[in-house]
Amino acid sequence: FNSTPIEEFMAVERTLSIIKPDAVQKNAIGAILGRFEQAGLHVAATKMMHLSRDEAGGFYAVHKARPFYGELCDFMSSGPVVVTVLEGEGAIAKNRDLMGATNPKDAAAGTIRADFADSIDANAVHGSDSAETAAWEIGYFFGQREIFSR
Ligand code: UDP
Repeated sequence: FNSTPIEEFMAVERTLSIIKPDAVQKNAIGAILGRFEQAGLHVAATKMMHLSRDEAGGFYAVHKARPFYGELCDFMSSGPVVVTVLEGEGAIAKNRDLMGATNPKDAAAGTIRADFADSIDANAVHGSDSAETAAWEIGYFFGQREIFSR
């Protein structure tokens, strides 16, 4: 028998966000991080990086066979990005909701992509799409000692 409340066994969900080079260029880092915080997500880790083309390619390896892979790697290594671990209840889905659809033309009003993205390739933000992806993506950029839970 163990009387520890169930919440203490449930790890808070984490997701990886990237503010892409287009949004960094637009001076929108603070505005985008602010949306996450206003929605109740917490920044558990964050850093600015300029990815090499190989680092961008490794991150997007899942898209290797897609026709846009080469251009995606060029774009993601074209300037600095801000990579962030977001933490909170339902963080993965919450972040995807805040981001909006991949193509800003389809993104709902008030979403990050509706407000900051120019096109389907320069679309302001990345967000993990599942728990499995999130774990892998967080590990791609951060060590355990760089992540701070509340
Ligand atoms: N992408 C692109 N052209 C396309 C589809 C996707 O350049 O026709 C890029 C875009 O930057 C997108 C990323 O590839 O964010 C990953 O695509 P995915 O379908 O996973 O969209 P996301 O999960 O980012 O909404």
